[in-house]
Amino acid sequence: MRTLLAAAALLVLGAAPLRAEVEPSSGSPSEAGANDTFTGCLRQIATFAASRGLDRGFVETQLAGVAPDPAILAAANRQAEFVRPIWDYIEATVTEARIATGREKLAEWAPTLAAIERAYGVDRHILVAIWGVESTYGAVLDDPSIVKPVLRSLATLSCGEPKRAAYWRDELVAALQILAEGAVPAERMTGSWAGAMSHTQFMPKTFREHAVDFDGDGRRDIWSSIPDALASTANYLRHSGWQAGEGWGFEVTLPEGFDYRLADETTERTLSEWQERGLRPADGRPVADLQQRASLALPAGAGGPAFLLQPNFRVILRYNTALSYALTVAHLSDRLRGAGGFLRDWPRSKRPLTPDEIRDLQARLSAFGHDPGGVDGKIGPKTRAAIRSFQGSAGLTPDGFADPELLQRVTDRP
Ligand code: CA
Repeated sequence: MRTLLAAAALLVLGAAPLRAEVEPSSGSPSEAGANDTFTGCLRQIATFAASRGLDRGFVETQLAGVAPDPAILAAANRQAEFVRPIWDYIEATVTEARIATGREKLAEWAPTLAAIERAYGVDRHILVAIWGVESTYGAVLDDPSIVKPVLRSLATLSCGEPKRAAYWRDELVAALQILAEGAVPAERMTGSWAGAMSHTQFMPKTFREHAVDFDGDGRRDIWSSIPDALASTANYLRHSGWQAGEGWGFEVTLPEGFDYRLADETTERTLSEWQERGLRPADGRPVADLQQRASLALPAGAGGPAFLLQPNFRVILRYNTALSYALTVAHLSDRLRGAGGFLRDWPRSKRPLTPDEIRDLQARLSAFGHDPGGVDGKIGPKTRAAIRSFQGSAGLTPDGFADPELLQRVTDRP
């Protein structure tokens, strides 16, 4: 899913990243040429859609008069200039207001959520947390600076972003198939600039595969039916491997002299094995099922909190692959349930690297034989593994956390 959160969280800070500053149309000759190209591109997409079984006349009617939206391309091409620390991201999202509203939603929709839990086995707190993170429980869906017509967004991206043209085209065809199905009229099929739709930000292909009609009115309407939106989300999570009755994981304390190489995010051990290595739940509660498996992650390195992540955490990562996203959803779900904040504070004095610095780091790590899985300016599991590998070889604490100090160490390496 492509969350509205980036927009929602930044709106809180007074900036609206989806509201691109674009000059009004001047009707120049080059623009006329671009419009011809756009029309030709839509014609090709109509042919493709017909080859996928859609009625060509229906497709042409839906796409008639659709014009490219320059603000969409501006949003798609915007380069991040900095990386937000994970604690900023979590704290800007898991606010007292979002916790309070989430608890109201849990009460308001209690019978529906109970029915969804029975049908799909997915914990209601996780569902409401995803709803809260993706669209502030639907509140941002009324903001026309964020929410746009899906056909126009996806047509703009299909014809204006050549690198991912096939991806966008397939999503556009899926959106047309949803319209053909009659789930929603085109004017109500709105979404983020990237075409992620409604309360929990379903992309059209995900909708096609996983949306359900839970309120029984015969339509899969995630736009105006909260039961449909939440049950569709539960259905998606169940298909992604959600294990009923199990949690996502929990914060742990580490023993004195802990071997940080074990915090590799991927190696699963039973909770019993972790306990033998000295890890304890931070809230002091006993572990319910010691045979469950979990991996260990330290999202901000040895100076921040540590988490044992159970298989359901990976299911949240299927919704959005960023560790910061999944931990935000997981933590909000705990707060909705009544839990407190993290026990261990974050290393707030540390500054994460900028995307340019990350690229520099990745190139250097790669040159030294610590494979970061490519030079993309993003810190993911492979880059963290490469950092741990470098740190181990340099006699540093192998915690996988990248800050300017680490980049300097890599740069200074003979
Ligand atoms: Ca329905």
